[in-house]
Amino acid sequence: MYRRNIRHILIPLAIGLALLIGYNLFLKPLHPSLTSPTETVESVPPPPAPPQSKPSQSESRLVRALDQTVIPSTPHQSLLEGIRDEVEKHNLSLAEHKLKALPASVLSDGQSKPFVAILWNNLGLQQERLQGTGASINAFKRAAELDDTNPIILMNLAQAYWEQRDRALNAEFLTKLMKVAPDDPFPHLAMADLLQEQDDLNGATMHLAQASQRVKQDPALQSYLATVTAKVQRTRSVESRMTARSSTHFVVKFDGEEDQSTWTSVLEILEEAYRDIGQKFGQFPTKPIMVVLHAKESFQSSTGSPAWADGLYDPTLGRIQIPTQGATTDRKWLATVLRHEYVHALLHDRLGPHAATLPTWLNEGLAMQLAGDSWPDLKETMHGEIKVIPLTSLEGPWGGLSAEASIVAYSEANSAVNYLLERWGMARIDDLVKAFQAKASVATAFQDKLLISYEQFQRQWLERFEQARS
Ligand SMILES: [Zn+2]
Repeated sequence: MYRRNIRHILIPLAIGLALLIGYNLFLKPLHPSLTSPTETVESVPPPPAPPQSKPSQSESRLVRALDQTVIPSTPHQSLLEGIRDEVEKHNLSLAEHKLKALPASVLSDGQSKPFVAILWNNLGLQQERLQGTGASINAFKRAAELDDTNPIILMNLAQAYWEQRDRALNAEFLTKLMKVAPDDPFPHLAMADLLQEQDDLNGATMHLAQASQRVKQDPALQSYLATVTAKVQRTRSVESRMTARSSTHFVVKFDGEEDQSTWTSVLEILEEAYRDIGQKFGQFPTKPIMVVLHAKESFQSSTGSPAWADGLYDPTLGRIQIPTQGATTDRKWLATVLRHEYVHALLHDRLGPHAATLPTWLNEGLAMQLAGDSWPDLKETMHGEIKVIPLTSLEGPWGGLSAEASIVAYSEANSAVNYLLERWGMARIDDLVKAFQAKASVATAFQDKLLISYEQFQRQWLERFEQARS
């Protein structure tokens, strides 16, 4: 019986999440070309391919750090040598200070200027190593201002923009990047992503194909790209016969035959979610969110989802997808699913490429708590012994969980986030999300932001969880 009650929430969520993880695994391989050869270069396999493969030595990889030993012999040579040495000794604030204080004559000197750009680039890399791209972005920007023909500098800036979800990674910048680094798949992938957001699926397909031609050396990534391309193409053909209408914060596409009242309900629910969840969470999406209403009969074939899925957030396509049944659509069900998926969309919008660093239990628990999902008590839904799953086992994708285990997983996520909210409040949870945005591990994030070890948190939460069940 319990399955009938909650399966419409359970299963779509698991799928949405699998896609979310997939998306991020897919994006990570963008960066190997940007990775310094002195660091371990790991190529994360695109799903569902198993273990990681190290890129072969023969592959050409851009070196992110530029050679700063060859200083042009100009009257400014010793000044520049001094800054180079500070960068090498990791005296970063001093190096930055000296770079900023360089006299105009150095920058107007055609020989010195590209070298100053190299120094800014290498300073940015050191800053990034210590504090992430939030700290390095300005140095890369400065480097690119001084030399916008250097592919390594522009790639480093592009990566920082990407990680920071900076809107400066726009079509103009990407077009320039394509000219400067014509063999790199990254600008094409980023462009496809951008065009998809703007709902230009034709353009996105074209750039995906171009990216695909440029990842020839990586068969796994290539096959994943082919899958994504097929998916975008299918969506393009399905949605080409749909009409779209927008409210301030959402674009809702629907089948022409769908009735207007469902569409109106959907917009009302979404706008209310925007206000209400925005107020609770202090978060608003940076761009309109796309919602596609499918006819129930064609939902499965249109989205490629299994027969039992009742809605999902698809981060690859940046869409909430929902099946509807015209006038008979249950409004309460619709509100539950839309609000829940809206929270996933919001978190994805905020975390961008780092969405996968968010533990799944936190992502799901936040969606449930913020959406106000009514979740049946485990006591009532499950009889007999319940096997508690450690939170540490619920950080990754949930796709492999059995139906029964997934009910326990959602209950735990709901309860753990409820405990977080009651004890620490939303502002501290927000700090926690920020830590994941900066790629912190779960243990570090808990220790630094909540001043409690992850183990201790789990123990204390579990005690409460067990009490509630007995
Ligand atoms: Zn979910």
